[in-house]
Amino acid sequence: MTKDWNTRTKLVHAGTRRSQYGEVSEAIFLTQGFVYDTAEAAEARFLKAGPDEFIYARYGNPTVRMFEDRIAALEGAEDAFATASGMAAVNGALMSMLKAGDHLVASRALFGSCLYILEDILTRFGVEVTFVDGTDLDAWRGAIRADTTAVFLESISNPTLEVIDLEAVAEIAHGVGALVVVDNVFATPIYSRALQMGADVVIYSTTKHIDGQGRCLGGVVLGSQQFIRKTVEPYLKHTGGAMSPFNAWVMLKGMETLDIRVRAMTDSATAIATALDGDARLARVIFPHLPSHPQHAVARRMIARGGTMLSLDIKGGQAAAFRFLNALQIFTISNNLGDAKSIVTHPATTTHQRLGEDQRMALGITPGLVRVSVGLEDADDLLADLTGALAAV
Ligand SMILES: *Cc1c(COP(=O)(O)O)cnc(C)c1O
Repeated sequence: MTKDWNTRTKLVHAGTRRSQYGEVSEAIFLTQGFVYDTAEAAEARFLKAGPDEFIYARYGNPTVRMFEDRIAALEGAEDAFATASGMAAVNGALMSMLKAGDHLVASRALFGSCLYILEDILTRFGVEVTFVDGTDLDAWRGAIRADTTAVFLESISNPTLEVIDLEAVAEIAHGVGALVVVDNVFATPIYSRALQMGADVVIYSTTKHIDGQGRCLGGVVLGSQQFIRKTVEPYLKHTGGAMSPFNAWVMLKGMETLDIRVRAMTDSATAIATALDGDARLARVIFPHLPSHPQHAVARRMIARGGTMLSLDIKGGQAAAFRFLNALQIFTISNNLGDAKSIVTHPATTTHQRLGEDQRMALGITPGLVRVSVGLEDADDLLADLTGALAAV
């Protein structure tokens, strides 16, 4: 049975559906719709579609369903809905579950577009949003009320890699019956134990590690069958956030190598973080499994390994950070992450530019901060590139 398989077997086989041709590689059903043998069959399918019956690609498609089933098996979730991007998944999960008058509590350290949904969109529709320091359990206790509908957090935040004690937050939230929604990109589905730790809904931008080769946007919402099919699906199928069948195929192929890639990237990230920790040219090296990480004990409990991301706070502010970025030979300046290609980002002037200086400083996004996504290149080459660029600062 699929559910008894270990990770790598699920990543290669779970969810596979074969056509009458018995193809080895998953087929790309690049079709918007499906035909019915008779008018009665069309009527019956609109009334109730079976597990292998599809109506329209905005509702579901065989290639997309293969991807949904594969990632649900990996995460240990009952069901999943794949979306056009990570943000379509965040928006779909939140908009489908919330209504005017609801109260949402969220950690402050969030991806910029998630902040926009919470601060600018949900509030416009009468949802009350309270932000807290996600690492402060007393702050969660203080903000969560008897009428709180949901909490939203990034399990490991972008770009400062704060690690939230999901188990503790879930316990507080469940005490009042609030749903726990986790944006789990930085933890990756390989190291995630979010559902076991109390998350009700887990969201990934599959653009990141799951594609992992910088080709496609994608996202996914995972949760109970009831939540996915009765809450998320009706919203997403009518508002048009579906994943394209071609992108689902790219994600299926990405999943086959996901475990190998994430572990290899983590090996390199761990080696780099360890080598650079304590370097006099750096104010901070942030990596969840370094003993110097502020939530080190929580990080050890939350994720089996430190992940593929680290952040470096370069002494000398923005000018020094820019000299560092411009001196790199292998790392490319971009804003994706989880990619085979190693990538560096200067959050203060790019991904978090929209936030004011005060908000950036409150989040620890200093002018010298550089986010590093460690790819699949040779680890020694990557470390030499980073130390060479530091020497150029
Ligand atoms: C990238 C990212 C998103 C958004 O995903 P897209 O696929 O770019 O829409 C949301 N949350 C986190 C933590 C991310 O890293």
